[in-house]
Amino acid sequence: MTTAPARAQILLVEDNPGDVVLTQEALSEAKVANDVHVAVDGEEAMRFLRRGPGYEDAPRPDLILLDLNLPRKDGREVLADVKGDPELRRIPVIVLTTSAAEQDILHTYDLHANSYVTKPLDIGDFLEAVRQIEGFWLELVRLPDEE
Ligand SMILES: [Mg+2]
Repeated sequence: MTTAPARAQILLVEDNPGDVVLTQEALSEAKVANDVHVAVDGEEAMRFLRRGPGYEDAPRPDLILLDLNLPRKDGREVLADVKGDPELRRIPVIVLTTSAAEQDILHTYDLHANSYVTKPLDIGDFLEAVRQIEGFWLELVRLPDEE
């Protein structure tokens, strides 16, 4: 029995408009059809994930792309909240940040980030990095099937 594959739901938590556009561009070319939802700060991300005011109908993301340095609520705090919540912790969280600091890498893995990627500075490399993340997490990896 086959069912039509659902569109993958991706939550992009990113405050840099240029990085939002680039990430959307890379994902628009992905093999797996997807919808990208953008949260521009950490509080908005948690409202989306917990279906708070204004986000009552938000889908459960299959994947979260998380910037670390965010206004209002830092990406590290978002990560801690997601991985501390039994309802949310199985959603893979890919940290995608300009930081290459060893303490950020250690700290985010301690908080159970699923992977950590430093944003390449070159635009072509950035697009390729997003494509590789998408290919691995949405095409190769088996994820739990849940609503
Ligand atoms: Mg930022």
